[in-house]
Amino acid sequence: MSSPNVLARRVQGLADSATIRLADLATARHEKGLPVWDFSAGRPPDSTPLSICEEAMRAMRAGDTHQTPARGQRRYLEAVSGKLLRENGLSVDPEREIVATLGCKQGLMLALSVLLDPGDEVVIEDPAFVSYGPAIEMLGGRPVAAPLRAENGFRWRREDLERVVGDRTRVLLFCSPQNPAGSVYSRDDLRQIADFAIERDLAVIVDEIYERMTWQGREHVCLRSLDGMAERTVGLMGTTKAFAMGGWRVGFAYGPEAAVAQMVKLQAHYQTSAGSLSQRAAAFAYRGQADEELHAMWASWFESCQTLCRAVDRIPGVRCRVPEGGFYGWIDVRGLGLKSEPTVTRLIDEYGMVLVPGVAFGPASEGFLRLTAAKSTEQIERVVEALTEALTEALPRFAEGD
Ligand code: PMP
Repeated sequence: MSSPNVLARRVQGLADSATIRLADLATARHEKGLPVWDFSAGRPPDSTPLSICEEAMRAMRAGDTHQTPARGQRRYLEAVSGKLLRENGLSVDPEREIVATLGCKQGLMLALSVLLDPGDEVVIEDPAFVSYGPAIEMLGGRPVAAPLRAENGFRWRREDLERVVGDRTRVLLFCSPQNPAGSVYSRDDLRQIADFAIERDLAVIVDEIYERMTWQGREHVCLRSLDGMAERTVGLMGTTKAFAMGGWRVGFAYGPEAAVAQMVKLQAHYQTSAGSLSQRAAAFAYRGQADEELHAMWASWFESCQTLCRAVDRIPGVRCRVPEGGFYGWIDVRGLGLKSEPTVTRLIDEYGMVLVPGVAFGPASEGFLRLTAAKSTEQIERVVEALTEALTEALPRFAEGD
């Protein structure tokens, strides 16, 4: 297979995942004994709470080590349905409207697979999570960006959608709380999207992976809870972030019965099912049984987001607001006239600091850098020091027109 001619053009043409590439680069530097401070991928600083791990050990000892139904284990689906009712005010049928997935990304792939035909367009945000575009292209669809504007708090307005939606548009795909910009869509924001989707008869996929991590009095509202949206919304949630369970690869998608039935059919072909132990552990967490540990963990993440973002915001010419949700610092270096990729390369080469360039999230996001802000005090101090030095040095050079 050394000839590229035998490889599918569709795959060869896809962009790689910049966040995972940079996280792998950080790991490789670490293994080589080079200095490295990894702020790239959105990986929580904590391990999975012990009580969740213990539930998986109990399941293992009890022999719950086999494939599960394609839709998921009954106890997992019921735990998820209970969570959606308790925390999100949604009534979602565990037997018809939920499918267990191997993480949120796999839920996204299933959702897009059942909604898109080749040539169909999907409207995404810019900045958008790096995998949305390639996932759409892989299915023969076309991603079309409707950029988020800083002056609108990085949330779509109806006119942003009107500008790009055309005859081939089938789906709107967005993320709230938003990765990387840290905004949280309010009920009024969602109503604009909902009314537009209903008028144009569009389906909507909402990536809600950060829904438990909202700060500063913000509340996550599920699009499905708005009138007229239950029949056209697919929601994606997962355990990777909030439960620090990224290695367990488990999440879920929920939506209208007909769409979920097709997703379950594909799940049986592609993956058979999500892992049995992962579902058992996640069900424990979704029942609220690890809430005490989790709340303490989230509070410490928000604390470090505040410390880090405020310190970065004090660098002259740089903007970085504390996120309303999620755990990213979205650093605006446009005031310094810096391009994101060379800045990231320089931070790696000179300081061993690994951040993600804004352009990885879309062309309109040039001039931004993303960093994962939930980190230890030592990591925060080091990154602030490096950024202050690297970015303040750029300031006089920029003023001189370098
Ligand atoms: N969606 C968004 C917005 C994300 O930030 C991430 C993780 N970086 C994912 C999906 C992927 O989640 P998972 O690891 O559960 O597949």
